[in-house]
Amino acid sequence: MEGSEERDPHYVKRVVLPSGKTIEVVYFKDAVEQDSSFRTVAEPDQALHLCAACSSELVYPTGWEEADGDRWHVQLRCPDCEHRSEGIFSQSTVEAFDEELEAGTDALAADLRRLCRANMAEEVDRFAAALDSGAILPEDF
Ligand SMILES: [Zn+2]
Repeated sequence: MEGSEERDPHYVKRVVLPSGKTIEVVYFKDAVEQDSSFRTVAEPDQALHLCAACSSELVYPTGWEEADGDRWHVQLRCPDCEHRSEGIFSQSTVEAFDEELEAGTDALAADLRRLCRANMAEEVDRFAAALDSGAILPEDF
């Protein structure tokens, strides 16, 4: 029985997702051998958040999976014109895309915070105006 582990038909590979999360993928030897005959070519570097069909900058991934090497098979969708595409992209392209998506999320969160503050400021203004006009009296509390 000794030495049987070396002949294990599968191995585990650590895959770091563009989000920085690490997952462990179990490869079975047969699948790996099949994979190696399936060579994929990376698309040239490009800004994935830009739509090729319209000028939208809101393209987002509908799915991605590791291709061979450090490349990613990414499926994309444009919310503005419904253009869909997919391709094999290099790690650096996907990382840049990931940063773009994160920046978009941050911008959205910042907008939301600004909106909340604006609403609050409006409430405060209304409240202050009501106080000034004497519409709110200490008895109201
Ligand atoms: Zn588009």
